[in-house]
Amino acid sequence: MEIVFLGTSCAVPTEKRGLPAVLLEYLNEYYLFDCGEGSQRQMRIAGINFMRIDHIFITHLHADHFMGLAGLIQSMDFLERNRVLNLYGPAGFKKTMEHMMSLGSFSMDYMSLSINEVSPGWVLDCDRFRVSCFRTEHTSNSVGYVFEEDSKRTFLKKKALKLGVPEGVLFSRLQKGHEVEVDGRKITPEMVLSDPVPGRKVVYTGDTRACDGVREAARGADVLIHDSTFSDSEEEKTTLMAHCTARQAAEVAREAGVKRLYLTHLSQRYTNPSILEQEAREVFPKSYVAEDFMRIKVAKHDP
Ligand SMILES: [Zn+2]
Ligand SMILES: [Zn+2]
Repeated sequence: MEIVFLGTSCAVPTEKRGLPAVLLEYLNEYYLFDCGEGSQRQMRIAGINFMRIDHIFITHLHADHFMGLAGLIQSMDFLERNRVLNLYGPAGFKKTMEHMMSLGSFSMDYMSLSINEVSPGWVLDCDRFRVSCFRTEHTSNSVGYVFEEDSKRTFLKKKALKLGVPEGVLFSRLQKGHEVEVDGRKITPEMVLSDPVPGRKVVYTGDTRACDGVREAARGADVLIHDSTFSDSEEEKTTLMAHCTARQAAEVAREAGVKRLYLTHLSQRYTNPSILEQEAREVFPKSYVAEDFMRIKVAKHDP
């Protein structure tokens, strides 16, 4: 599992930072969270083939978070994408997309869209993972997303051998959840599987003030990607605009017991964002300022 930050600025792009977009790679598939203007070019620069994206999750309908969709969809169609592109966004998303698709001579000759309005709960339930969304406190219809791998039980080879199970067909039958018989004894999958190991979990807040919705959703996450628009010196403004300071994001990370915190959606005033990292680390040492094109791996959990 890998995360690629494609846009880490807020509202206005800078020379070094694009508008919000985070790409998650899992089992060779791409999932995009927010799609600020210019995201498709950021992907080209990062060497990411955007034709491979099948699911895009939008946190809210402020322009900096979704204006990249029109260009991206147009490019995908020019390149003769013939699969459905699944889009997810909060209340009002369908209408916004209808407007967007009716601009100028916008047309789609090859691809089609599946546009889904989400409310807190499961958004996408796949074989190995699920995506859910939760309410954030920014606008009346803003959400954040959780990407969570299913928990897994590993096959304990040593234990199986000790029970006299020979390697080969019987191993794979047990791994598939079937009972087997060895010298007249029943061996059940339960006897040779580990306790469930929780899957990896990545949480992306979009824009939000520090809130319980995030604290709960981020509980125990491997990676929390959190709004961190301002530093301590702008606390009043932060509250007014329903964003977070780096320190507030760090407090949420600490309270939720996450493993790592990435600060994003930085105001353009921070040409040197080390102040944000510093303030966050005073509260939660594993805080990092996200940079455009930064890639982070999320390692598998040990059984
Ligand atoms: Zn924003
Ligand atoms: Zn916003």
